Amino acid sequence: MKIIMLGAPGAGKGTQAKRLADRLGIPHISTGDIFRANIKNGTDLGKKAKAFMDAGGLVPDSLTLELVMDRIGQEDCKDGYVFDGFPRTIPQAEALESALTAIGQKIDFAVDIDVPDENIVNRMGGRRACLQCGATYHLVYAAPKKEGVCDRCEGSLTLRDDDKPETVKKRLEVYHQQTQPLIDFYQSRDCLVRVDGTKDVEEVFLSILELLGV
Ligand code: ADP
Ligand code: ADP
Ligand code: ZN
Repeated sequence: MKIIMLGAPGAGKGTQAKRLADRLGIPHISTGDIFRANIKNGTDLGKKAKAFMDAGGLVPDSLTLELVMDRIGQEDCKDGYVFDGFPRTIPQAEALESALTAIGQKIDFAVDIDVPDENIVNRMGGRRACLQCGATYHLVYAAPKKEGVCDRCEGSLTLRDDDKPETVKKRLEVYHQQTQPLIDFYQSRDCLVRVDGTKDVEEVFLSILELLGV
C-alpha cells in the first residue's frame, strides 16, 4: 500500500506514519528526517538543504525529488511505503504521480491529519526529538520515561531549531500557501481521507486504520 500523510507541521504526521508503517510492515519515508540526517553527516545535500530549513522555507523541488525517486527505487519499497512530509508542493505531487504512472502504480491513500493553527504552536513548543534515532516525543502529550532521554536508544532529546515559535509561524504560512492545495489535488484523485488530528494519538491511529480498511 502506498500512503501519503498530509497535514500542517506538527499535525502528527510523523507520529502516525511511524505507527502505520510498523503495522503494515512497509518503510516510513520522512523527507525531513532524510534532510536532517544529511545535515548531521555534513553531506552536499545537507549543506544545500540547511539554509532553507532553518529559514522555515521548503527545500527546492529538484533536490527533494532526486532523493525521493532514489529512495522509492530501493528494494524495500516494492510493497509500498508511508510518505511523511512528501509531497509538499503541487509540482512534487505531479512528479510523483508521473513516476508512478510510468510503472503502472498509484497512491492508494492520502491521509489528511487536520489540526487548526491555534493548536500547532503548542504542539511544536513541546516537541522533543532524539538526535540519534529520530524518535519524537512531547513534553506533555508523549513524554519520555526519563526526562531528556530517548526511550528507544538513550540518545539525548532536543528542541529542533525550526520548532522555535518564529520559525513555526513561517512554516505554517508556507504550509497554507504551498502544501494545503494538495488536499484538493488528492481529493480529485479519489484517494483522500481525513481525520481529526486534535484527538489523542491512539484515537487518531484507530481512525486512520478504519479509513484505510486495515
Ligand atoms: P514537520 O514534520 O514538522 O512538518 P519535517 O521534518 O517534515 O517537518 O520537515 C522539516 C523541514 O524540512 C521543512 O520545513 C522543509 O524545510 C524541509 N522539507 C521536508 N520535506 C520537504 C519536502 N517534501 N519538500 C521541501 N522541503 C521539505
Ligand atoms: P509532524 O510530523 O506532523 O510535524 P509530529 O508527529 O512530530 O508531527 O508531532 C508533533 C508533536 O506533537 C510531537 O511532539 C508529538 O509527540 C505530538 N503529537 C503528535 N500527535 C499528537 C496528538 N494526537 N495529540 C497530542 N500531541 C501529539
Ligand atoms: Zn533515540
